[in-house]
Amino acid sequence: MATMTGKVALVTGAARGIGQAIAKKLAAEGCDIALCDLKAEWLTETVGLIEAAGRKVKCYEADVSQSAAVDAVVGGVIKEFGKIDILINNAGITKDTLIIRMSEEDWDAVISVNLKGTFLFTKAVARPMMKQRTGAIVNVASIIGLIGNAGQCNYAASKAGVIALTKSAAKELAPRNIRVNAVAPGFIQTRMTDVLPEEVRKKMLDIIPMGRFGQPDDVANVVLFLAGENSSYMTGQVLPVCGGMVMQ
Ligand code: NAP
Repeated sequence: MATMTGKVALVTGAARGIGQAIAKKLAAEGCDIALCDLKAEWLTETVGLIEAAGRKVKCYEADVSQSAAVDAVVGGVIKEFGKIDILINNAGITKDTLIIRMSEEDWDAVISVNLKGTFLFTKAVARPMMKQRTGAIVNVASIIGLIGNAGQCNYAASKAGVIALTKSAAKELAPRNIRVNAVAPGFIQTRMTDVLPEEVRKKMLDIIPMGRFGQPDDVANVVLFLAGENSSYMTGQVLPVCGGMVMQ
């Protein structure tokens, strides 16, 4: 039975991978969906999945690191759907290399998309959500933001920043009944991880107690929980989804 009928959810980086799985699950629960990615035409497959669930869907093209584009998306969604109940900050990139080889450009790019993008979208929806006196924001962080990883200084810093942003925004927005939480996925099978060399994948598998990589749906299920009423008394929390890779 659909539990989120009438809600409007905005999902960034929704063309594929974890973002696509989240959009599909939210639609199956009854949400109408606004999809955002760098290019609108890449969203065609996700649109088909939302339409198959019988929900309204619209596509928005934006680079999440550009404030004017982000404001235009949020304005467009409110014009089209009338409100935004749920924001999923999922868009993210990696540019991995050891710190001694990492260019300033690769540092800036990862921080801009992963951290600044999350800031810009959170800021843009905060005012309309405050007026509504309701809202749920779920940020897709990473366990690398909790434990660090050789070759990922930029990515780890961006995701640690997302975690700190999640907790701070949660404290600011809680009095207006807006919840801000995060998931911290481990190693999930998507295009982001498909490009990693076999020996890196093997090493990762060795440190996952459950002995398997995660699937996008494993993350989407937890995002659905944090976006919905079943987590109504939770805010500022970071839930690892990693097969036990990080035990806290
Ligand atoms: P993915 O398959 O690469 O999907 C990411 C999506 O975000 C793509 O559609 C991508 O578009 C889009 N995107 C990238 N930069 C963007 C920008 N500037 N503006 C708008 N959209 C942009 O990656 P994924 O594995 O599903 O990752 C989704 C999120 O989960 C990311 O935040 C990632 O850091 C996080 N995560 C993933 C894993 C994992 O193991 N896969 C683990 C922990 C956390 P393009 O087609 O242009 O790239």
